Amino acid sequence: MYEDRREDLVNVLKTRGITDENVLRAFLKVERHLFVPDIIKAHAYSDVALPIGQEQTISQPYTVAFMTQALELKGRSKILEIGTGSGFQAAILVEMGMKVYSIERNYEFHQKTQKLYDNLGIRAALIYGDGTIGWQESAPYDRIIVTAGGPEVPKRLLKQLAVGGKMVIPVGDRNIQTMQIITKISDDEFSIKEAPNFKFVPLIGKEGWKSE
Ligand code: SAM
Repeated sequence: MYEDRREDLVNVLKTRGITDENVLRAFLKVERHLFVPDIIKAHAYSDVALPIGQEQTISQPYTVAFMTQALELKGRSKILEIGTGSGFQAAILVEMGMKVYSIERNYEFHQKTQKLYDNLGIRAALIYGDGTIGWQESAPYDRIIVTAGGPEVPKRLLKQLAVGGKMVIPVGDRNIQTMQIITKISDDEFSIKEAPNFKFVPLIGKEGWKSE
């Protein structure tokens, strides 16, 4: 269902600079309309963020594609995502063959997405909790992707990133963020690339914003 719409969306992503064939292939496969509320399904393949309830959003497809491409995935990596939300970003990573751990602080979203994954047969470890402190039990991670915007990069996440690994995280104020693409060179050395002008819902937690 909606195959033509997915092809159209992939063409839009290409014109916006997404070139990673594995990312584009995953967008052809993962059915975004299954991750949004019924009432807005008709808009599922437009390149826009959409509301998923409780003032949260499923990120814009371009943003998901940009962040996934920035992770520079090769082979099967162990990935930690902060902000499961609808589960769409994690589903793209699973479709690309990654081993995914995803943390969500909102219990309702956590449960809803777990149910959806069970129904669709998507295999990922979905964890309920504050993602700003990461998930030490399964660290280190080859990649970390944060899908909510925080005031700074949580130190615990930098610790849980493997040496040679990459983290993609929007950092800024509550209205606008810069995407930081961080490579961990050694235990205490990092290189950072930046891309401006992203807008995410707030990252709330111990090493994030303190309130909604
Ligand atoms: N990756 C999601 C998707 O594909 O739909 C994007 C969801 S939305 C932009 C960001 C999510 O981050 C929200 O569901 C929000 O509840 C969650 N969030 C915010 N702060 C968090 C935290 N400290 N730990 C885990 N999840 C958090």
